[in-house]
Amino acid sequence: MPTTNLDRRVEARLAEHEVRYTSGRKAVIQALSEVEGPRSAAELSEIVGDSVPLSSLYRTLAVLEDAGVVAPHFSKNLARYELAEWLAGHHHHLVCIDCGTIDDIAIPETLEVRVEEIVTAIGDISKFRASNHALEVEGTCARCA
Ligand SMILES: [Zn+2]
Ligand SMILES: [Zn+2]
Repeated sequence: MPTTNLDRRVEARLAEHEVRYTSGRKAVIQALSEVEGPRSAAELSEIVGDSVPLSSLYRTLAVLEDAGVVAPHFSKNLARYELAEWLAGHHHHLVCIDCGTIDDIAIPETLEVRVEEIVTAIGDISKFRASNHALEVEGTCARCA
């Protein structure tokens, strides 16, 4: 498996936490970098195959989460993981209330500016200085509609 720029950034962050960037952890990071949207441990297991047994996959995800490399998102009581925002870039999510799938959604900059205005205005209500936001749009995905 070639070492990518992503690998170097993850490896540096893990080193700060005195965690080694093992081949299993690297396989999980590569799998997450190739899918669009958060994935459950079971879904990731299908991608990484035998290189990371499901039992150690849960442990791997916990280690990566503790180091701030991956972030969990929950729908239908199931944790789905994605690369943390500092790695994946800022984006939003579409959450299907029927099947629980969480999809990434990229929005135009003009819409992002409006979202930021709304978030800032919400913070202003209680003298809270908003610095970021996480937006999840709930509804029914095209597959379930
Ligand atoms: Zn759905
Ligand atoms: Zn945003």
